[in-house]
Amino acid sequence: MSAPPTAPPRLVVGIDLGTTNSLAAIRAGKVARVLRDRDGEALVPSVVCFHPDGRTLVGREAKRLRLTCPDRTVFSVKRLIGRSAAEVGAEAARLPYPVVAGERGLPRIRIGDATLSPEAISARILQQVKANAELALGQPVAAAVITVPAWFDDAQRQATKDAAALAGLDCLRILNEPTAAALAYGIDGSKDGTVLVYDLGGGTFDVSILRIDDGVFRVLATAGDTHLGGDDFDLLLADRILAALPGGGKAVDPFVLQAVRSAAEGLKIRLSDAVEAELTLDLGPRGTASLRVTRAEFEAAIAPLVQRTLDCVQRAVRDAGLRLDQIDETVLVGGSTRVPLVRERLRALLGRPPHTEVDPDLAVALGAAIQADVLAGNDRSLLLLDVIPLSLGIETLGGAVQKLILRNSTIPTSVTEEFSTGVDDQTAVELSIYQGERELARDCRLLGTFRLRGIPPLPAGLPRIAVTFLVDADGVLRVHAREQRTGVEAGIQVVPTYGLSREEVRAMMLDSIEHAQADYAAREAIELRNKAEAMVRGAQRALALAELPPDQTYAVHKAVKALERLLAGPTDAAALRAGCDAVTQATATIADDVISAAVTRALREEEGR
Ligand code: ADP
Ligand code: MG
Repeated sequence: MSAPPTAPPRLVVGIDLGTTNSLAAIRAGKVARVLRDRDGEALVPSVVCFHPDGRTLVGREAKRLRLTCPDRTVFSVKRLIGRSAAEVGAEAARLPYPVVAGERGLPRIRIGDATLSPEAISARILQQVKANAELALGQPVAAAVITVPAWFDDAQRQATKDAAALAGLDCLRILNEPTAAALAYGIDGSKDGTVLVYDLGGGTFDVSILRIDDGVFRVLATAGDTHLGGDDFDLLLADRILAALPGGGKAVDPFVLQAVRSAAEGLKIRLSDAVEAELTLDLGPRGTASLRVTRAEFEAAIAPLVQRTLDCVQRAVRDAGLRLDQIDETVLVGGSTRVPLVRERLRALLGRPPHTEVDPDLAVALGAAIQADVLAGNDRSLLLLDVIPLSLGIETLGGAVQKLILRNSTIPTSVTEEFSTGVDDQTAVELSIYQGERELARDCRLLGTFRLRGIPPLPAGLPRIAVTFLVDADGVLRVHAREQRTGVEAGIQVVPTYGLSREEVRAMMLDSIEHAQADYAAREAIELRNKAEAMVRGAQRALALAELPPDQTYAVHKAVKALERLLAGPTDAAALRAGCDAVTQATATIADDVISAAVTRALREEEGR
C-alpha cells in the first residue's frame, strides 16, 4: 500500500513592483527571504528596452541603455499605469520615450510602429521577476501578492492586477506598500499602535501613517512627493562629475551622460558607507574625470531635498490628526534611506531612531511574502488586508443613498447603522444595496435587494432596524437587517466588484466627481422633504394625542396644512425650510411640550433612518 499522494504546497510569492526596482520574496516556515538571480542580485531595475536589433531587454541590461537608447527604453512606467492619457500628460512630458493617447483615452507607449500599454510593460518586468523566482526556487510560480502605494486608486490597482495576469501570474491580493513594510518589520497587527512608514525610493517619496487596531491596518494619512528620490541625489553628483570633465562637460553626448549617471549613482552608494569617495571615470577620447567627494559635501548638496521629505512627514502626521510623539514606531523603506543624512535628520525630528533592522530596499517584498504565505493557507494567525474600491450603502426614503462603508475602507470591515420605517404600521421594508460614489440611487449600481418582514405594526419611525454591512477578507459583502424589538432578521450576500471592469469603476468615480455639486443639491432636497414629512406626521400624531386649547390646535393645524401643500408640489427648498420653521414656531408656543416632544422624536428617528 502506498500513501496517498499529497499535493505539493502552492508557491505564492510576494512581489514589490517598484517605480525603480522590482523583486520577489517568499516565506517558508517563519522566515521570509528575497529571491535572487544567478548573479546573486535580488533587484530587477523596472526598465524594459525594446532594442532596435529586435531583442527585448529587462532589468539591469535595459537600465544601461536608458540614455543611449532613450526612445525605446521604458522606465518609471508605474507613473502611468491605471491612469488616463489626460491625467499623465505632465508626467509623460518628462519622459524621454513617446507616450500617446490610445483607445478610450488610455496612454500608450509608442515603440517604432507598435504601441504598448503600461500594463504590458509592467507585465514584462513581472515576467522577469517571476523567472528569477522560479530559477531560485526550482519550481514554477503561479500566484503572487503584489504591492502598490497606499494612495493608488482602484483603477491603478486593477491595472496592476491586469499586468500580473498578462505575466501569467494569479494576483491573489494587492497589498499597500507601507502595510507590507510594517509586516516585514514584525509589526503584524498583534499589537495596536501607530506606525509611520518613510519610503524614499529612486524617484518617489511616500510617507504613510498606519493605525493598527485589532489586527486591522488602516491608512490614516499619506503624503509625499512623486518627483523626489535617489535619482535627484544622483543628478547633483553627476553635475560634479561633468564639471570635472575637459571643457566642464559641455556638449556631451548620451553615451557620456549614461556613463556619468551610472558613476554618480555608484559614488552616492559608496558615500553611504564611507566618509569620502574617489572616482576616476575614463571616457577614452572624450576625456577623464577625476574627483574626490566627501560625505559632508554630498550632504550639503542634498540637505534641501531631505528637508522636503521631513516637511511631508510633518504634514502626514498632522493630516492623521496626530502629534509626532504619538507615533509608536517608524520604519524605513526604499534604497535611498541608506543615506546616513536621511536617517540622522529623521531621528532628530522624531527624537528617537527609526527602525532600520530590515534592508530598506527589500522590506516591501519581504512583507508581501508574509502576506502571500498567509494567503497560501500556511499561516492562519494573520488577518488579511485590503481595501474596497467603491462605497457601499442602502437606498433611503426618496431615492438617496446612505453610505455605510466608504470607498478605500480596509477590509475586512463591518458597519451597523439603525434605520426605521417611513409609513405607519409598515410591517415589511425593502432594502436595496448600492455601490458607487454618487448621492442618488439612480446614479449608483444596484447590487441586490431583500425584504425584512414581520416588523411589528407601529407608527412610522418607531421600529428600530439595525442594518449591518460586513465585507469579508475576500471582498464579499453580507448585508443583514434586524428589527431590534422583535428580533426578526433577513440578509443577503453579494460580491461587490463582480462584473465591474476597471473602466466601469473608473467611470463611476469620475462621474461622481463631475456631478458632486448637483448630487449634493438633489440629496439635500430629498432630505428636506423627508424632514418636512416627518414634521407633518409628528405634529399630526401629537395633535391627536394632546388635548390643546382650540386656538393653539388651529395654529398648529394651519402650519401643518401649509407644509403639506408645499410637499404636494415640486420641491422648493426655501419654501420648505420656511414651512418647517412655521410648524416649529406653532408648536413651540404651546405650553404643554407634548407636541414639540413628538416632533423632535419623529425628527430624531428620521435622521437615523
Ligand atoms: P523604488 O521603490 O523607487 O523602486 P528602491 O527602493 O529600490 O526604489 O530605491 C532605489 C534607490 O535607492 C536608487 O536611487 C538607488 O540609487 C538608491 N540606493 C540603493 N542603495 C543605496 C545606498 N547604499 N545608498 C544610497 N542610495 C542607495
Ligand atoms: Mg519602493
